[in-house]
Amino acid sequence: MLRILSLALGLLLSLSVLAHDTIVLQASSDQLVLGRHMDYLVDPGSSLSVHAAMQSPDWHQNQRNYPTFGYTQATYWAYIKIADGSPAKMNRLLEIGYPVLNHVDVWIWSQGQLLQHYALGDSLPFAQRPYAHRNFVLPLSWNPGQSLGILLRIRTQSAMQIPLTLWTPERFHQHDQTDLLLLGIYYGVILCMLLYNLFLFFSLRERSGAYYVVWVGGMLMFMMTLNGIAFQYLWPNAPVWNNQALVFFLGISVLFAILFTSEFLQLHTLKISWIHSILKALTILAALAAAGAFLLPYSLGIHLSIGTAVIGIFCSFIVAFLRWRQGFSTARYYVLAWSFVMVGGAILAANKLGYIDRNLFTENATQMGSALEVLLLSFALGERVNQERKLREAAQHQSFVAQREANLELERKVDERTQELSEANRRLIEISVTDALTGISNRRHFDERLALEIKRALRGGYGLALLIIDIDHFKRVNDTYGHPAGDEVLRQIAQTLSQHVRRDTDTLARFGGEEFCVLLPNTDLQGLERVAAALRIQIEKLHINLPGQPVLQITISLGGSHLPVIQHQEDGQMLLASADAALYQAKHDGRNCFRFQAINSAS
Ligand code: GH3
Ligand code: MG
Ligand code: MG
Repeated sequence: MLRILSLALGLLLSLSVLAHDTIVLQASSDQLVLGRHMDYLVDPGSSLSVHAAMQSPDWHQNQRNYPTFGYTQATYWAYIKIADGSPAKMNRLLEIGYPVLNHVDVWIWSQGQLLQHYALGDSLPFAQRPYAHRNFVLPLSWNPGQSLGILLRIRTQSAMQIPLTLWTPERFHQHDQTDLLLLGIYYGVILCMLLYNLFLFFSLRERSGAYYVVWVGGMLMFMMTLNGIAFQYLWPNAPVWNNQALVFFLGISVLFAILFTSEFLQLHTLKISWIHSILKALTILAALAAAGAFLLPYSLGIHLSIGTAVIGIFCSFIVAFLRWRQGFSTARYYVLAWSFVMVGGAILAANKLGYIDRNLFTENATQMGSALEVLLLSFALGERVNQERKLREAAQHQSFVAQREANLELERKVDERTQELSEANRRLIEISVTDALTGISNRRHFDERLALEIKRALRGGYGLALLIIDIDHFKRVNDTYGHPAGDEVLRQIAQTLSQHVRRDTDTLARFGGEEFCVLLPNTDLQGLERVAAALRIQIEKLHINLPGQPVLQITISLGGSHLPVIQHQEDGQMLLASADAALYQAKHDGRNCFRFQAINSAS
């Protein structure tokens, strides 16, 4: 039955294809691009049978090396006839170099006989391919002089591209190695950047780093799907997913590229509302496109993601320029990086939409562009981290300086306070030992000095002399001139006394009221008498001037005591008591004189 059918079809075919060219294949031709030798037929309703297609009067001669028809619902038919121009048997590989075509049927005829039918396309599991390759590859062979008719029927939701090349197996493998090497380099670069930035993200926790990683990951998966590598190695049994994957990864990549851009250029700090509206709209569209991979028809999904990508790149570009002009230095890397992608993307889009021919450059422009971009942006991310670190260090330094200044200020204040305190303390001590009225030592100080000098004299084995001085008739001064005048007299007498008690070890103190004491360590009786006489005479000679009053003359009485050797702690009290008694005697003897009372040291 098949045989009869094929015979009948072959007959028809041999009739109708008379209009097509025949390529005569030379043994020397190891790589033949078939585009210009291909005829094609558009089947808008996808309704033609093989028979009807071959019968159609609408076949066109294709004018391009790599036929490209953009996105279309129509089924495309293609036909090539190749004759063996050598006397030997020939083998070739036919490569359809666009791995995302959904349905590709290939019929091979020779002299009216159907030799083979291949059902290809990425809607079938990978294992069904006659030749395990990311592109569709068919083995062909000619007997000497034989000619083969090759009919293709293609239905696809991807771009309609029919890049046909005829290779000798050797040349094909040679070319394929280069191709794979280039792809490997590309994937390697992208993967390195991805992993590098992933680890960087783990340590730095920068949100832009995370966006970068997802975006670059999405792009890598998109490119792997586009190149047929993903289907061959990652999901050979998931043809449905393979179609969705293209849209999904493109959508994800666009979505995270937008998020990355927002974060990297810190657009939240930008006060231009339309940019925020567009960004929001683009984010939603990209998310829709990614979700649309599973929900929307393929062509809608792919158009949505490509459209979002194009608008997104355009807007990002404008914003990046804006940022650059605002002095955002890392924005220039961004502009440069996206320039590469834009050029690459524009070349790819122009190629897919059928505006420019496919060649090695168009095939690799996107990959080169995106690899450069990914490298440059990774560098820019590092640069930004670096800048932030510098800012942080500057801030730290500033706060360190401020801290140090605060500490110095504090130290200065503490010093000041300490000085004030010690001064106050010194003053307090002074006050505590000074008599407020006369400025000489007070009774308390005198008692301390006496106790101290007794101890010293005990240790040193020397003696002490002591004087008690009382102003004569002082009550009268108060009564006559008033208490303030009395105070003034007290001050002047104290001053005069202090001028004549000059030895460092001597102590003059106000003992109370109008009485003074002089402690004279290591002083013998003669010394005591000399001092007493001097003091008495000095006071006698003193002329006291009080404002509005006649000159006043005052005398003092002095009582002295002496111990040539101090033997007991209590000797101090004895000295005082004896001096007091002597003073009493002096008063008794008519005042303005010195009296001495010896101490019976045995007592
Ligand atoms: P005598 O010669 O017997 O010592 O006579 P006198 O007037 O000095 O007698 P007395 O010792 O009884 O008087 C001491 C007077 O000294 C009593 C008091 O009014 C006066 N006086 C004591 N302390 C002060 C003082 O700080 N300022 C003044 N203005 N007078 C004082
Ligand atoms: Mg007195
Ligand atoms: Mg007196």
